[in-house]
Amino acid sequence: MVKFIVITGGVVSSIGKGITSASIGRILRSHGLKVGAIKIDPYLNWDSGTLNPYQHGEVFVTYDGMETDLDLGHYERFLDVELPGISNITTGKVYKSVIEKERKGDFLGACVQIIPHITDEIKEMVRKTAKIEKFDVILVELGGTVGDIESQPFLEALRQLRNEEGHDNVLFVHVTHVPYLKAAGEFKTKPTQHSTKELRSTGINPDMIVCRSERSIDKNMKEKIAHFCDVPFNAVINTTDASTIYEVPLLMDEEKVGEYISDRLKLDLDTDTYKLDGWKEIVKSLKKEDPTVMIGVVGKYIELEDAYISIKEALLHGGGKNGVKVEVKFVDSDVDYLNKEVLDDLDGILIPGGFGERGVEGKLEAVDYAIENDVPIFGICLGMHSMVIQIARRTGLKNANSSEFASNLEHPVIDMMEEQKKVKNMGGSMRLGSYDCRLVENTVAKSIYEQNLIKERHRHRYEFNNEFREQLVEGGLVLSGFSPDGFLVEIVELKNHPWFLGCQFHPEFKSRPSNAHPLFVSFIKAAYEHSKRRKKQVLNSN
Ligand code: GLN
Repeated sequence: MVKFIVITGGVVSSIGKGITSASIGRILRSHGLKVGAIKIDPYLNWDSGTLNPYQHGEVFVTYDGMETDLDLGHYERFLDVELPGISNITTGKVYKSVIEKERKGDFLGACVQIIPHITDEIKEMVRKTAKIEKFDVILVELGGTVGDIESQPFLEALRQLRNEEGHDNVLFVHVTHVPYLKAAGEFKTKPTQHSTKELRSTGINPDMIVCRSERSIDKNMKEKIAHFCDVPFNAVINTTDASTIYEVPLLMDEEKVGEYISDRLKLDLDTDTYKLDGWKEIVKSLKKEDPTVMIGVVGKYIELEDAYISIKEALLHGGGKNGVKVEVKFVDSDVDYLNKEVLDDLDGILIPGGFGERGVEGKLEAVDYAIENDVPIFGICLGMHSMVIQIARRTGLKNANSSEFASNLEHPVIDMMEEQKKVKNMGGSMRLGSYDCRLVENTVAKSIYEQNLIKERHRHRYEFNNEFREQLVEGGLVLSGFSPDGFLVEIVELKNHPWFLGCQFHPEFKSRPSNAHPLFVSFIKAAYEHSKRRKKQVLNSN
């Protein structure tokens, strides 16, 4: 029988509910349980595909092509699983499904209401996801904070779930913030008390309170929280700000979270034996302080780091695997000209995906800089497009561009896919999810992957225009990965460059701290070599 762990949040948003949930999952997974996860987003959008990355951060793409909330990325990385798209439930999906049923006549005679129709639909969606992979435990994280109007039907449905599944099978975790007031010189538990009260008013009594705080809170504080929030003392867990998010499972394990959950849900785990050794090693490799390599991510969504979160994490995983610390510098591509001094400090350049013309010229400049200065460069999706455009321009096609940015182009080296030309709706209509890619012998890509056929996730409308294959290959471009029918170009490289690779897909979604993505490992290795060359040059010039 599957066990449900529901995670709600209170006091403020962005307190790390996703990381807290993923860390609980990691602890249970280390005990050999099969752990899955669901993220509920109470907004009305059907999926996160059309949301602005400035507001909601990156759109994470699942293997089956769903555009989802970035928390699913945390879950995949912490739990080392591939989650299906139905793991992201939104108000939009719930209502659409209920209204479709109503139109079909499934509720004939009934007045369709939030209770029971919407709440039943929510429970059905949660149970369906839990069943799909036969999970032992499923984490259900409710986005937003308790008290939001949009969350109410979900809280009600989750309350009903506890009654229906039974007390031993559903556990509620409430994550709150315990602020430290400098002026008073103490921590304040009142916001935690209030948000727990708010949660209680929905009929849900939390089983565990996770208190996020800058520094550790003491035993007295914990006793106070236990008393006022009506949970056992050992169910008050304190997680302080960690130097890496991957350390949070270790911090929570010290607080004996696994033991409490095992008792409460009757999981019968062997909690006497320490299970997180492997994870501890990973954290150690990610906390290494030197040597350092500096990677510039040249993009336009740089005000919110979460917009590139999977890329940042994949770079860090690549660093861990190479025994180096990766420092990520976000470089704004939406400027009149890129500051060459900023680029001069970089050991590697990564050009991420993106949409629209704004900021593209800066990306093209970065490609040019990397070619001229032999700096390792990695292009992902729009990053690969930028590489192809710039190489085309350098080989004489002066006005080469992507038809995403201008119409009636003389040299549309990147063009819209045929099937995309018929598409009318913007939502969920790109080439999405996992596709096979065949690698070409004697290429950098082949030597990195050491496989003939790979699977990677996509999210795009435009692609390499085959009309320009011959000309660009003559100009030094190497086509090293294709769709199995040979029609779509999936990977490009450049001859006589230390490390130059662009891919149409998004490898960052498949990187794990426990299993860094080979392209990122190879890129960081090349960047480290470049940093050594750079240091030597500086020494020589002094
Ligand atoms: N905007 C480009 C396209 O639609 C690239 C997309 C991306 O970088 N994910 O093809």
